[in-house]
Amino acid sequence: MNNVTVVDEKVLSDCLNEISRALLQADVQFSMVREMQTNIKNIVNFDELAAGHNKRRIIQQAVSNELCKMLDPGIPSFTPKKGKTSVIMFVGLQGSGKTTTCTKYAYYHQKKGWKPALVCADIFRAGAFDQLKQNATKAKIPFYGSYMESDPVKIAGEGVERFKKENCDLIIVDTSGRHKQEAALFEEMRQVAEVTKPDLVIFVMDSGIGQAAYDQAQAFKQSVAIGAVIMTKMDGHAKGGGAFSAVAATKSPVIFIGTGEHMDEFEVFDVKPFVGRLLGMRDWSGIMDRIHEVVPTDQQTELVQKLSEGTFTFRLMYEQLQCLMKMGPAGQVLSAFGAELMPKGNEKESQAKFKRYMTIMDSMTNAELDSTNPKLMNESRIIHIARGSGRTVQDVMEMIQFYKLFAKIWNNAMKRLKVPKKGSMNARSQS
Ligand code: GDP
Ligand code: MG
Repeated sequence: MNNVTVVDEKVLSDCLNEISRALLQADVQFSMVREMQTNIKNIVNFDELAAGHNKRRIIQQAVSNELCKMLDPGIPSFTPKKGKTSVIMFVGLQGSGKTTTCTKYAYYHQKKGWKPALVCADIFRAGAFDQLKQNATKAKIPFYGSYMESDPVKIAGEGVERFKKENCDLIIVDTSGRHKQEAALFEEMRQVAEVTKPDLVIFVMDSGIGQAAYDQAQAFKQSVAIGAVIMTKMDGHAKGGGAFSAVAATKSPVIFIGTGEHMDEFEVFDVKPFVGRLLGMRDWSGIMDRIHEVVPTDQQTELVQKLSEGTFTFRLMYEQLQCLMKMGPAGQVLSAFGAELMPKGNEKESQAKFKRYMTIMDSMTNAELDSTNPKLMNESRIIHIARGSGRTVQDVMEMIQFYKLFAKIWNNAMKRLKVPKKGSMNARSQS
């Protein structure tokens, strides 16, 4: 083993430890973190790593790919077809968000022109039918349930029958999540499935349950053929590492996530951003959204590129000052974390100052502009730049001071935003 390999192995193990800590904090099961580590160690190509300029980035990319793979059970879930009747049964513990998610799922499809319907087969929880009725009415979705009937299997069967006759193409069956005895709950799920013959059974899990996800999913899977997972409450603190457990236990993919209590707070599950968030890049996607909102499409790539390069050169400052002065879209994004640079009420003064700094920078050499080191400009260079720009040495010094402040704010903001910086990885979340 040569020295280079030893160094790279150290980088790799440091990096993996850092990432593993983040994953465990996000509730990924220990055994799966171990599995990921083993796989990465097997696939990392040390030759490639040795030649790579950014080893940590290479490792992070490998981990990210590996995690995406672990969330892919290899078989796509059943996808209902518009116009053709499908029965979808929802299961999960009480409080996991089944009833809410049933409505969201129905509403999501209704907006796309489907004819969904809701069946309430939860007779255990008082008010279960009222809750579903309320949700369904609000979304103008037909529903079926009963205050009198005490047999959930019967209600489920009748509801599905009725909506089939009415030519609904998405019949959604909401079930109970609690029973006096656990065994009875699972037997009830089995019977409801037997009578409704669902095309797809969706396991609904609260993203906050963490490590318990595996056992829960496993328990339900033993009585009904789960084909997909929906994770709720992703708007909260939980990062949803339990998804790995649910996927492993059910061999089914996560298809949607719930991101709030409202009907439209529901998103198609997208594995890449999910994994990014697990690795601690959550806020980065927030600033990305902001960029997509306010920056014209043709300028987005360039700005993102700059943000992620993470080296705050004089030239970058020059460009950012231009943005701040114009208060164009990029300036709007940047001013969000640069308020100290441009105090409110002093806009006019700031603009004059920025203009002065830019004039001074026009007299800097390319090497100086592309550097992050103010010391590159010694006394004679400073005098030269002052002369060239028609300003005083004092002005040049002030500009350099301003650069130092701007660089500090910029780099802190990048840390806070957890932008994957060149040469570093920020895998750990600060929250
Ligand atoms: P069920 O017992 O499984 O039917 O669960 P419910 O649908 O009644 O939901 C339980 C609670 O979780 C309710 O207060 C819902 O508003 C809430 N809830 C469900 N999904 C979400 C979500 O994605 N985000 C948030 N913040 N709350 C949710
Ligand atoms: Mg419910």
